[in-house]
Amino acid sequence: MNSATLSTPTLDRFSLPDRHGRFGPYGGAFVPETLAHPLQQLTAAYEETKNDPVFQKELKQQLKSFAGRPTGLYFAERLTRELGGAKIYLKREDMLHTGAHKINNALGQALLAKKMGKSRIIAETGAGQHGIATAAVCARFGFDCVIYMGAEDMRRQALNVFRMRLSGAEVRSVEAGNRTLKEAINEAMRDWVTNVRSTHYILGSALGAHPYPGMVRDFHRVISTETKEQILDLEGRLPDEMVACVGGGSNAIGFFFDFLEEEAVRLVGVEAGGRNLEDGQHAARFEGGRLGVLQGCKTWILQNDDGQINQTHSVSAGLDYAAIGPEHAYYRDRGRIDFTHAGDDDALHAFRKLSETEGILPALESSHGLAYAFRRAKEMPQDSILCVNLSGRGDKDAMEAARILGEEALMP
Ligand SMILES: *Cc1c(COP(=O)(O)O)cnc(C)c1O
Repeated sequence: MNSATLSTPTLDRFSLPDRHGRFGPYGGAFVPETLAHPLQQLTAAYEETKNDPVFQKELKQQLKSFAGRPTGLYFAERLTRELGGAKIYLKREDMLHTGAHKINNALGQALLAKKMGKSRIIAETGAGQHGIATAAVCARFGFDCVIYMGAEDMRRQALNVFRMRLSGAEVRSVEAGNRTLKEAINEAMRDWVTNVRSTHYILGSALGAHPYPGMVRDFHRVISTETKEQILDLEGRLPDEMVACVGGGSNAIGFFFDFLEEEAVRLVGVEAGGRNLEDGQHAARFEGGRLGVLQGCKTWILQNDDGQINQTHSVSAGLDYAAIGPEHAYYRDRGRIDFTHAGDDDALHAFRKLSETEGILPALESSHGLAYAFRRAKEMPQDSILCVNLSGRGDKDAMEAARILGEEALMP
């Protein structure tokens, strides 16, 4: 053994989080005592369930029959030819039921809630994708369902509110603060503390207090497991680089997880650069953020000198949050995941480009990953491989894109 191996302990992705929910200095469970008990119960239930073959078998079956797994790994041939560099593959999470990767986690947690004997499920939602996935699984399994949503988000996403209600969910408007996602999470936590005997809280990203970040990651890990098998089957080797957009970080960590120990594969997370990198104009936590605690979790946060949370902005509601999942912060420190950002304009450009060249409308969130990937592919040799996680479909964003781009841009 040489000194380099001694000073660089090998990466063991299964050792995280530790039993306190920490990813190195990040993560944990910084919550009031009233929440500590429900979180401990949930942790215990999840630990018991995680390795239960009966549970895993049922989850696999539901992911297949209800959600539509496995999703394809698609070679974007025309796009690749046009860019002239690396071969671009897209992992098609956009093909899943309800339109995004979110259903992987909603299904996993719903089955866990069933096992715990809960009858009622609550969740928060920003743009509505997580609310729609949660409402769908609640209808599927017969849970009472309440979705908390900021009043401002409800106004912007009226169609999604209707879709949740069609699935039988009650959507509760949150009037506090900026009336968006952060306030909706606060309300959901308040509800949970009050009704914990009957209720499970399905948090929608790899965020918040332990055990959520690790549990949500585990439910999305299937994305990387499939991708690895598929690329080996198609190309006989691993990709050179993999790219995913990062809001809270769930689609990205799910896509990266089985590649973390494959040091030759470069992993890149793309945050929302918004309009520019001034305070309040973006959601790139690693650009303007610093260490702090938000909603139970220690991580990189966009906040001012007094610790007040900054306003954030992104054209994609799913990336518009002030904190990033703790596991991403950990792997960034270790140099294992690189981070960059793409702005609103770049994302809109990528949204149009993928639609035009491949007939696939990407979600505006996923378009941030694509924007970086299009730039990057051109710099890579033609025999290299770049995989992008297409976290969701863009139907939900078509009206917003039309508003911004103008009808002329779409109908020349
Ligand atoms: C919610 C969402 C995201 C962002 O959430 P992550 O937890 O970072 O994955 C990205 N893409 C789509 C399509 C989404 O719905």
